[in-house]
Amino acid sequence: MTFWGPDFDALQAADPEIAGVVTDELARLRSGLQLIASENFTSPAVLAALGSTLSNKYAEGYPGKRYYGGCEVVDVAEQIGIDRAKELFGADHANLQPHSGASANIAVYGAFMQPGDTVLAMSLPHGGHLTHGTKVSFSGKWFNAVHYGVAQGSEHIDYDQMRDLAREHKPKMIIAGGSAIPRLIDFAAFREVADEVGAVFMVDAAHFIGLVAGKAIPSPVPYADVVTFTTHKVLRGPRGGALVCKAEHAAKLDKAVFPMMQGGPLMHAVAAKAVNFKECMSADYQAYTRQVIANAQALTESLAAEGMRPVTGGTDTHLALLDLQGIGVSGRDAEARCDRAGIVLNKNAIPYDPQPASVASGVRVGTPAVTTQGMTEGDMKEIGSLIGRAVRDEDGSAAEEVRRGVDALVQAHPAYPRA
Ligand SMILES: *Cc1c(COP(=O)(O)O)cnc(C)c1O
Repeated sequence: MTFWGPDFDALQAADPEIAGVVTDELARLRSGLQLIASENFTSPAVLAALGSTLSNKYAEGYPGKRYYGGCEVVDVAEQIGIDRAKELFGADHANLQPHSGASANIAVYGAFMQPGDTVLAMSLPHGGHLTHGTKVSFSGKWFNAVHYGVAQGSEHIDYDQMRDLAREHKPKMIIAGGSAIPRLIDFAAFREVADEVGAVFMVDAAHFIGLVAGKAIPSPVPYADVVTFTTHKVLRGPRGGALVCKAEHAAKLDKAVFPMMQGGPLMHAVAAKAVNFKECMSADYQAYTRQVIANAQALTESLAAEGMRPVTGGTDTHLALLDLQGIGVSGRDAEARCDRAGIVLNKNAIPYDPQPASVASGVRVGTPAVTTQGMTEGDMKEIGSLIGRAVRDEDGSAAEEVRRGVDALVQAHPAYPRA
């Protein structure tokens, strides 16, 4: 059996500049704390599938129904991946071809909506996503978007507002999910409203699908007509998208992914998704997802003790949103000050944020990557106190000392440890 690639020596000889970028990025991942809630460290097995010659194959269509010859080998990978996704999520049907989470969402609009139709979704400043009807996205340019948000006091999704807007606007589709929602979502409540007004119910599970795969939180699959997701966040697979749906929508959604919205699938990525789904079925992965949540809760407590207020008071998932108004630091400054000390996180608007999005009053943190590194609750306590020092460090005088604390953590729990 011969495997050809990934051959780093060949890259170094052919293109030292890009080879340098690849090694610099690995060094960056290893040397800092990666707390971006949407990032993770995928496995060597997934990376091997991604770096394979499957990238060469044109396979427009689906297994057994291709537009090109020579697809009998890649058909095996895609069928295994589809079968695993159906088993992992208890779904009737799966499509692994969307190039990204946004591409999966485009396909769902294409399947169920006509230009000008109404979609009801969570507003971006309250935790939604660009593809849920914002003006800068196709979804807001080509469709009539109406947005629900979170209630001002509790900061939980305002289900009453969602229901009232659905009754008033009669949307063709209702979307649940987003990029900065720390709490569990009541999918049954959405299903009930969708049924009442005759809307398609889509769940964008990009962020939390990994926690569902690991059985650490409840699944949206029994409730939704279609669930879209990314494969590279908590799930820990290759960068890409996918969707699972009810049998009645399978043909429509397959046609919307290809040929309506995409051309040839990325077969190396499809194979890597299959590898990832197998990993997700293991007891190890399930334990990982429980630890991701325990770590997020420990980190949130530690940050709260540093004077950063957790939006909604805490988290049920892999991420938390912290309001920094109480310590008088903007999200933008906090992000820059943490970055200086080797802590990578992002500024984020909080609900009812008085600041523009470019400044923001909050930061978002997530634990998928540090948990892959093997860190646990005690490490989260330490990370919280390092962040507390970094965000207050106006003149940069504490950056070096914080960086030493970061070094100690990542040396004890290296990302991509050397063999
Ligand atoms: C990350 C994300 C997406 C987009 O995924 P891409 O792969 O970046 O296109 C879509 N929806 C939500 C809620 C997300 O968090």
